[in-house]
Amino acid sequence: MKKGTLRPSLKLSLPPSDEVAFSKFLTESGTFMDGDLLVNRDGVRIVSQSQVETPPLIQPSDNQISLADFDAIKVIGKGNGGIVRLVQHKWTGQFFALKVIQMNIEESARKQIAQELKINQSSQCPYVVVCYQSFYDNGAISIILEYMDGGSLADFLKKVKNIPESYLSAICYQVLKGLSYLHHEMHIIHRDLKPSNLLVNHRGEVKITDFGVSAILQGTAGQANTFVGTYNYMSPERICGSKYGSRSDIWSLGLVLLECATGHFPYSPPQQGEGWTNVYELMETIVDQPPPCAPNNQFSPEFCSFISACLKKEPKDRQTANDLMMHPFIKMFKGVDIDLASYFTNAGSPLATF
Ligand code: ATP
Ligand code: MG
Repeated sequence: MKKGTLRPSLKLSLPPSDEVAFSKFLTESGTFMDGDLLVNRDGVRIVSQSQVETPPLIQPSDNQISLADFDAIKVIGKGNGGIVRLVQHKWTGQFFALKVIQMNIEESARKQIAQELKINQSSQCPYVVVCYQSFYDNGAISIILEYMDGGSLADFLKKVKNIPESYLSAICYQVLKGLSYLHHEMHIIHRDLKPSNLLVNHRGEVKITDFGVSAILQGTAGQANTFVGTYNYMSPERICGSKYGSRSDIWSLGLVLLECATGHFPYSPPQQGEGWTNVYELMETIVDQPPPCAPNNQFSPEFCSFISACLKKEPKDRQTANDLMMHPFIKMFKGVDIDLASYFTNAGSPLATF
């Protein structure tokens, strides 16, 4: 089915006899669609195929949606915690991502987690992936998220190998806006900033996702025993178990950007060509060795300076998200038309379609 948005202009209530006539067309989901006509148990609506950019009907504040309102389209990703699916709202035709995290914990704890996720994520910041609803259902937490059709920066990097500085600057600016919102307005530390938690779409937007999730899941890890995160992007102070704050995310940002620019994770494993198999060895390297830096023969002085402003081992020496928005690496491409929409859509291979 093509992407479509409902124009709620026409809604007919069918007499019982007509309902019987229509029933033979109903799919398992209770929806029948033919051209512009959409029928389900609540009546008939005209669907516009052309108005794909109209604002979605379902708002984050909408508390009426339930899991039964969605049709599963396909699996779009797998993380350590669970599976992410593309789903479609039966009535409005809107697409969402449904993330399901298996949690074998008590109902009351799950209820609390779902509630916390909802509060944490019902943000209206354009640089943060919107969480529409969280459910606890069948031993799992289900989260309805804004669908980002370009997938994650990790997916994108696999296609393009590395990202040129001009695009990286525009990407970084959006991530900084999102981090500034989380750190300075919401007073939240992300705790799990990494390429797979930065999502992109065909409009050239970059948004942060999964903030707070790791904190909540780690908080219940004793009971849940399901969360296995990555230590790759963790700051030295977190690895050491010291008190840490929002600047821990800035360290992660530095590593993410350096990885995007060079095409490989900045800490090279002892054996060339092999990944880090021993997580303790990597953690020791992050804590004991000097931080990575951008090679100055391959990158601009502005980029090298930005990376070094993020990758200070001492958190107080790192700049904040607000500081970094004024950094020359961000400023040098301001005013230049950087078309991230085309870049995300065309680079590597075209974006996934339904
Ligand atoms: P971890 O479980 O360690 O956090 P992860 O971030 O890769 O790893 P998930 O958050 O479950 O795990 O996401 C898995 C993948 O699903 C992502 O890499 C991305 O490709 C896809 N994905 C997640 N959320 C969305 C979304 N809102 N829109 C589109 N794709 C998404
Ligand atoms: Mg994630």
